[in-house]
Amino acid sequence: SNKTYKLKRTFKVIIVGNAAVGKTCLSFRFCCGRFPEHTEATIGVDFRERSCVIENELLRVQLWDTAGQERYRQSIVAHYYRNVNAVVFVYDVTCRESFNDLALWIKECEKHGLVSDSEVPRILIGNKCDVECQNRVSTDEAQMFADRNNMALFETSAKAASEADHVESIFLTLLHKLQQSK
Ligand code: GDP
Ligand code: MG
Repeated sequence: SNKTYKLKRTFKVIIVGNAAVGKTCLSFRFCCGRFPEHTEATIGVDFRERSCVIENELLRVQLWDTAGQERYRQSIVAHYYRNVNAVVFVYDVTCRESFNDLALWIKECEKHGLVSDSEVPRILIGNKCDVECQNRVSTDEAQMFADRNNMALFETSAKAASEADHVESIFLTLLHKLQQSK
């Protein structure tokens, strides 16, 4: 329609998890609508944004990526964790280590005040579901982990075109939840 909206709110969402789990690709899929040809492990904190109209309000979401600094956990600058509205934890379903390390990422977030009983919603994404894998992280164990940590679990793929709508709905649902919060 021709209706113009005034920007109502901006939400800062951080995406955390081990290197190469697909954080940048998920962010790119949601903000740019496609899978990127190549992602470079840029050093520095970076964000991508997208505006959406939800229930007649224009909202902007900024997805903050750790852009290659996962390897230097201690050097992730404090401002990355400041004024965060939601946290998206990501692991790779084909990489056990990335699942095991989620506990470290949760600890890291808690160190910065992002705890499970706060008003900051946290979700868990198991990415790369399109990849055939013998001993993938099972949905059951991921679900148990998510339950224990007060997070909703979503298994998806940033790459598979057939999952594009799913990625879209995961982030829109989160945005909708943020909109409901004061
Ligand atoms: P990041 O380090 O967590 O930001 O990971 P990237 O988004 O840079 O992705 C790391 C690698 O995994 C890249 O080679 C991507 O092409 C690939 N990748 C990311 N998401 C998927 C996915 O859903 N499926 C598959 N097969 N590959 C993916
Ligand atoms: Mg990245």
